[in-house]
Formats: sequence, C-alpha cells, structure tokens
Amino acid sequence: MTRLAREALRGRAQTVLGPVEPPALGPTLMHEHLIWDIRTPAMRADPDQGPEITLCNCFAINYGRKRKAPGNLRFRCEPTALAEPAALRAAGGRAMVELTCGGLDPDPAALARLAAESGLHIVMGCGHSVHEYQDPANKTRDAEDFAQEMIDGVQVGPGAPRCAPASSARSAARRPGRRRSGASCAAPCWRWRRRGLR
Ligand SMILES: [Zn+2]
Repeated sequence: MTRLAREALRGRAQTVLGPVEPPALGPTLMHEHLIWDIRTPAMRADPDQGPEITLCNCFAINYGRKRKAPGNLRFRCEPTALAEPAALRAAGGRAMVELTCGGLDPDPAALARLAAESGLHIVMGCGHSVHEYQDPANKTRDAEDFAQEMIDGVQVGPGAPRCAPASSARSAARRPGRRRSGASCAAPCWRWRRRGLR
C-alpha cells in the first residue's frame, strides 16, 4: 500500500482494504478475532502439538478431559472464518474491528481477502499482546521504534511490514517486564468450541 499523509487520513477509518469515510462503517463489532494463533512462543516450540481435532475428540478437548491440545488455540481456516463476517453483513452489520495483534500471528492479507469476499469493512487492530506472547526481539526495541510501527500501520495500512494501539505499545516499551492479564485476548476458542458441538 501507498503511505497516506496525515491529512489524507484525517477523519477517515483505515480498513484492511484502505481508508473509508466514517458513515460507511455503520453498525460495527468492536472486538473480534477471525484468524489467530494464541499459542505462546513456548507452546509453538513444543514438538508435541497434540492431536488433530476431530469430531471424535473435540468433546474431550472442549471439556478439559484432554488438557494438551494446542490445535484448539489456533484458527487459520479462511473459508470457515468467512462465515462470521458474512453473517454479520447479512444481519445488517457493516464493519468489524479485528484485534489479533502482534504475538497472536495476525494475517492482514487474509483479513483483506475476508473483507473483499464478505463485503464487510474490517479494521485491523495493531500493537502487541501481553508479555508472554512477545517476540524476544521486542525486548531490545525502544519507544520510538514501536511508535514508528504504529504510524506505519495507520498510514500505510495493515499490509505494512509491521503493524502496532499506541498506549499498549508505549506501555510495553516503558515497562518491558510488566505482565498484564490479557483476558480479553486469551479466550477466542469459544468459536471453535461452538462449532465442535454442532
Ligand atoms: Zn481479543
């Protein structure tokens, strides 16, 4: 994407398909996850990634009878994800804010495809998740580097090489050792659970 000047963005909303005028947003869901991976770096590095989730084992996984199931913490299936923005669009929604941020494996290209296919505006959040999800490289970055990442995300769009909300990134930069609860971003697997029970 081409970098847009501040004036070109003023009063507009940056979506995964480019800036739109605010009235185009309409009814908007403000915190969703469509494509995500909430395994911590340690979990991703584990050679044992658990069983493939099937109809035969999903009940045991959903109800904690099988504890180790990293596959339940990861969702990358675009055709399945498409059902959600499409349903929202059909119900009268016009936009969704997708907050799969740094550390949770955000996929702006996938979100662009989902927006194009569903007709729903998707605004991609930026910034980084809680401490346990941080890329070790973030420990050596300063506030200005995080700030530039955020600016690129806004001015260039979600396709920028790096993408980052201002407050959380600055907080992370100033208090690298601080750990936050992150409860809102740690449990999107209800979506998978719901499907598994169908
Ligand atoms: Zn979240």
